[in-house]
Amino acid sequence: MYRVSRHRSNAVPQKNPMQPVTPSTVMIDRSRLLDRFLRYVRVETTADPSSNLYPSSPGQRELGQMLRDELAAISILDAELDENALVWGTVPATDGSVSAGSPSPTVAMVAHMDTSPEAPGKDVNPQVIDAYAGGDIPLPSGGLISVAKSESLSDLVGKTLITTDGRTLLGGDDKAGIAIIMEVAQTLIENPHLVHGPVRILFTCDEEIGRGTDKIDLRKLDATVAYTLDGGGAGVIDVETFSADGATVRFVGHNIHPSIGKGRMVNALRAAADFVSALPRTTCTPETTEDREGFIHPHTIHGGVGEASVDLILRSFESEDLADYARLIETTANQVAADTPGIEAHVSIRQQYRNLREGLDDLPESVSLAEAAFEQLGRQPTRMIIRGGTDGSQLTEKGLPTPNLSSGQHNIHAVTEFACLDEMVEAAQHVIKMLELWSQQRA
Ligand SMILES: [Zn+2]
Repeated sequence: MYRVSRHRSNAVPQKNPMQPVTPSTVMIDRSRLLDRFLRYVRVETTADPSSNLYPSSPGQRELGQMLRDELAAISILDAELDENALVWGTVPATDGSVSAGSPSPTVAMVAHMDTSPEAPGKDVNPQVIDAYAGGDIPLPSGGLISVAKSESLSDLVGKTLITTDGRTLLGGDDKAGIAIIMEVAQTLIENPHLVHGPVRILFTCDEEIGRGTDKIDLRKLDATVAYTLDGGGAGVIDVETFSADGATVRFVGHNIHPSIGKGRMVNALRAAADFVSALPRTTCTPETTEDREGFIHPHTIHGGVGEASVDLILRSFESEDLADYARLIETTANQVAADTPGIEAHVSIRQQYRNLREGLDDLPESVSLAEAAFEQLGRQPTRMIIRGGTDGSQLTEKGLPTPNLSSGQHNIHAVTEFACLDEMVEAAQHVIKMLELWSQQRA
């Protein structure tokens, strides 16, 4: 996922003192979960932003084939790898989830198979550290996962960690989510006493390059609610993302040989530079904002004398702010054009995604049942906001409420990435408890 950082929201609910806290009763097969994870991370699935193909890299289909076969092997009858390399399957509802002829809602569990192009993903060579003793973790090919740069490490003493050998990313983002969902599916099938409604499984491609939901048919998914297992650490429910628009400002000038440019050349590059200089600099930028503050971010400039374009992204937790940002961009571009005779400015704005919250408000159980499941397992959940987007932002906007849940990932998109097996086990237990709570709802 393209999260930048995450922050606690103010909306952490109080624990209900009447809520009975019961210990987890579901045994998760740790070594089987670990084996799965190690198997999946070894498949190179780096997304390729320069590709026009879907999926953008062949390894995603290879992993999809492996997952489809594994689903079929645990008797998921409708396990399917579709023409776009998305993996689908259903764990049918248990009998106990249907009362008085009214079925339980269908819950979809979603994770992405691709990994970030920001770090190498070929020949991943995972290292398992049993009972992490604390301190910095040296990696076999040099490099170090340092406590100073990885705050979460100090909470993980005694746990089982999986790191890289220092040359590649690990791919816990999001193969931790995939391994958890696969283990949940097999655990449910092996334990028919665990009550649940229909569980739809969906593994997607090319999330890291913004194409994760392009090929998802929501009618085919046919779910009331979905959860992405694509969050860091443990115990977190991501309930808000940015709302996001993209903008391009194109300046058109007039190019002519510089030797005869006097009075005739109109330099679009200068206009583009003036435009970037005139944008807010001490507020409303990624460099100066945090938490709930939004920003305007010019990130690419390209072109030359005849024509030059600036690409920007606009981000805010309040969708209404984006219109203000767009107006500011338009006013600034027009002012630059007015100040530079002969320059034309063209502004285009395109919607990218919207804050999760807007859709989750329509189905509050999407969050409250996830919280209740944590509480019934004796864990205190944390609601967080993401200064970025998730596949869930897009699914929610299309009408399927989709919060994001922790899956034991850490230091994603880097060669210092690692995952925590104990947190993955906890995530699997949480999902199973949450599915039980959903089975008590009526569709
Ligand atoms: Zn991810």
